[in-house]
Amino acid sequence: PPRKPAAHVVLLASPGAGHVLPMAELAQLVVAHGDGAEFTATLVTYANFSTAGYYSSTLATLPASSVSTAVLPEVPLDDLPADARVETRILTVIERTLPHLNELLSFLLDSPAGVAAFVADVFGAWALEVSVELGIPGYLTSTTKLTTLHSIVYIPELDRTTACEFRDLPEPIRLPSCVPLRGEDLVDPIQDRTNPAYPLVVELARKYLLADGFIVNTFDAMEHEAIEAFNVLSHEGVYPPAYPVGPFVRTLSGGEAAADAEENSSCLRWLDEQPDRSVLYVCFGSGGTLSTQQTAELAAGLEASGQRFLWVVRFPSDKDSMASFLGGGRRDNGDDIPISYLPKGFVERTRDTGLVVAEWAPQVEILNHRAVGGFVSHCGWNSTLEAVAAGVPLLAWPLYAEQRVNAVMLCERVGLALRPRIDVLHTHGDGNLAP
Ligand code: UDP
Repeated sequence: PPRKPAAHVVLLASPGAGHVLPMAELAQLVVAHGDGAEFTATLVTYANFSTAGYYSSTLATLPASSVSTAVLPEVPLDDLPADARVETRILTVIERTLPHLNELLSFLLDSPAGVAAFVADVFGAWALEVSVELGIPGYLTSTTKLTTLHSIVYIPELDRTTACEFRDLPEPIRLPSCVPLRGEDLVDPIQDRTNPAYPLVVELARKYLLADGFIVNTFDAMEHEAIEAFNVLSHEGVYPPAYPVGPFVRTLSGGEAAADAEENSSCLRWLDEQPDRSVLYVCFGSGGTLSTQQTAELAAGLEASGQRFLWVVRFPSDKDSMASFLGGGRRDNGDDIPISYLPKGFVERTRDTGLVVAEWAPQVEILNHRAVGGFVSHCGWNSTLEAVAAGVPLLAWPLYAEQRVNAVMLCERVGLALRPRIDVLHTHGDGNLAP
């Protein structure tokens, strides 16, 4: 067939590795799936918060002939209060760099490549006004499920029609064909109306409607009713259309750093010695953290079950179920290791059935190993999709907000997970382990 003309897509990644890495993957997907046309991409990042080295190695591996990179210059943030939420910082950077983005897009529009489409991620909705102004089709990409995206675009309506804090709403929020959401399950920055981040996030949610479409990491078998319901609203002109392009998962876990390589391969070598589908993999994402008591209970349960297991153990925290996410899981004492917080003698007693790994393991490879038959998970969206793609069923142990909704969906709607029945609650005080 005759080749279609070349198309150039500009992707804007919000600050933070968690945004830049998925956008880098999406940029590669764009150029790989040109549908007969030559696709090229420019990945735009921010100089603010670009901790050197953290993701620069990934950017360096992008195919230079088809993916270019551009960096928006650093803007000062010293007028923000020291305790400003991270959302406030990110949105302030995005707003203050809009003139630079405008300049860049105008320049690219005038270049021979032109700009066929502009794609921004969650926070980048703020920048859609630039693409609208320049007449470039603009899309938003969401790394989580459609139900979460739906709850975000619904925020301005909730803000208008309610006066209390969302966690105090007497009834759950019932979006069409989605699992009912409790107010406290909505995104964190809108949980406090007095915080300066609150009006910014409401405004951000309003700007979502500037998009010509949403690119969502979900798929029909996972969120059939939610997708149908959202389509109806899109046809009625309430929301832009949503394109479920998932499951979009990493093919490799990364962790290529030499220091990790040996530990990664020893973990996989141990799995090589186990029978097919016999091992329960236990891991709570990049941030999930158990309390001391939960750690002891989990250890007791694994030991009593006699089940083979591979457990990624973190330092416990009695205060915060996402302590590791913020780096708070680590102890300053260099000799301290997470494994020393396990019950006395646990590692020795379970030597024949289990392997304990400190802090991080090559999850994607583990889930795809023939020896793994189940996954105790916090139900983070990436972990969920990685398990689904590998065909491994889950035991759901959600730890923080959105994961609880994911767990309900997986257990009650999709049938991919079981939820443990819990007689005695050992929670962080936030009820996150309720049965
Ligand atoms: N991950 C990993 N090894 C670990 C823990 C996590 O490779 O020991 C990866 C996992 O494969 C997933 C990501 O980190 O891609 C965690 O994302 P998810 O959305 O599941 O949870 P979050 O960390 O955002 O709560």
